[in-house]
Amino acid sequence: MTLEQGNLRQARNFINGAFAEGSDGKTFENRYPATNEVVGIVHEASEADVDAAVKAARAAFEGDWGNFSQNERLALLEKVADGIMARLDEFVAAEVLDTGKPRMPTLKMEIPRAAQQFKLFADMFRNVEPLPEITTLLPDGGTAINRPERSPRGVIAAICPWNIPFVQMSWKVAPALATGNTIIVKPSEETPMTATLLAEVMNDAGVPAGVYNVVHGFGPGSAGEYLTTHPDVDGITFTGETQTGVAIMRAAAGTVKGLSLELGGKNPGIIFADCDFEAAVASAAIASFFNCGQICLCMERLYVERPIFEKFVAALKDKAEALRLGDPNDPATTLGPLSSLEHREKVLEHYQIAANEGATVVTGGGVPDMDAELSGGAWVQPTIWTGLAEDSRTVKEEIFGPCSHVAPFDTEEEVVRLANATKYGLAAMVWSGDADRASRVASKIEAGVIWVNCWLVRDLKSPFGGFKQSGVGREGGEYALEFFTEIKNVCIRQT
Ligand code: NAD
Repeated sequence: MTLEQGNLRQARNFINGAFAEGSDGKTFENRYPATNEVVGIVHEASEADVDAAVKAARAAFEGDWGNFSQNERLALLEKVADGIMARLDEFVAAEVLDTGKPRMPTLKMEIPRAAQQFKLFADMFRNVEPLPEITTLLPDGGTAINRPERSPRGVIAAICPWNIPFVQMSWKVAPALATGNTIIVKPSEETPMTATLLAEVMNDAGVPAGVYNVVHGFGPGSAGEYLTTHPDVDGITFTGETQTGVAIMRAAAGTVKGLSLELGGKNPGIIFADCDFEAAVASAAIASFFNCGQICLCMERLYVERPIFEKFVAALKDKAEALRLGDPNDPATTLGPLSSLEHREKVLEHYQIAANEGATVVTGGGVPDMDAELSGGAWVQPTIWTGLAEDSRTVKEEIFGPCSHVAPFDTEEEVVRLANATKYGLAAMVWSGDADRASRVASKIEAGVIWVNCWLVRDLKSPFGGFKQSGVGREGGEYALEFFTEIKNVCIRQT
């Protein structure tokens, strides 16, 4: 990424170790969501460019990268982690301009965490336990030993979202490379810059050409579709909306690709009256508004036990109204804009649907007044609703904005039923002072990630993924081996 054409950043494709503009010359604009100014130009990959990236990844898989020892590969990943941290300010600036998220959490948490993933997966996969052998007695009295062993899957395509771009992408790239695969990344069209910057870091670290490739573009009729239908891509790891996951499954079916899908959610937060009230309110506020509600793990449905319902809603309102919207680079800013004006349109449509459905708007519900220099940005008010029926669209559909509907409940059985009445099953949060009850409820909730008396504690070694329409497969820690490796059984006759 370089600053050219005045202040415009350039995001070029990175294929076989070299930066390239799209072979058919197409570009599109990259905008800063806080102001909607154009801040970059993205060079869209053509179908021929995607094919070249796949060929480069295949050649590297069968050549340099495949011939490296595991230790050589992992040492390079550690250099990549150091390379990211050495250019921390550039990564932070790129991510803030792409997403509009506040600079402080990007600097303190997101980019360092992404870098840490390269070290962590290198550490974790240095000594993976061999799979247990199985001895078979043969009819003639002889024996055979079955040795299941892991092989890399091959050429992986990573199709990434815009909400936490660099963390989500590193979460795929690090385990893919640590297990010996090569990869082609397609960042979201809205957040192309950190993937592009990572290409420079890969080159500087000495990662061979073709191991890490970046193609820019959109989904249908563009780089996303070209990857999902390419016959020489072995697996697709995708994070994004459930409907996009469905389209990718269909496209990938033609060549029976392996799939890892991290999809949408409509996550329930359950708050019992015996909870630590202050901590639960603070946690519910963060779970509703952090990253402007644009985390698949955010809680857009809160269920609060009736005796504390009114008090809880009032306290949550105070938290929402204390958020400080403003310049993402100002350390005092706690809430940035949404990712784009298009996404704001969708969120505002949902705000209108909630009003039409008869919601009580406790706070928010519209567009805030911003200073003149920010007035063109994708700002929305943090919003809390009450009073809606459980079958309303507001309670059923993922909105992906800074908003929550809060409903009262009376019994444990009732709240478990309400929590599970969704097509999604990504995450849930339970607050209670009764450890037995919290565990009982956690075990009954149909979701891949349950937090008890906390939210967003993510140990990178723990499994991650969704039930139902929130995904397919698990990533995280050694669970990532499920997707990034294939198991072959070698059966050896002994006697
Ligand atoms: P999205 O589905 O619109 O796009 C994600 C990526 O898919 C982008 O790179 C896009 O260009 C590409 N794409 C779109 N259509 C495609 C197609 N037909 N074929 C191939 N690629 C295609 O998602 P988004 O708006 O970027 O992200 C927000 C969504 O992601 C929310 O639904 C959120 O819940 C979900 N999400 C889930 C997780 C998780 O871990 N479960 C994490 C983050 C975000």
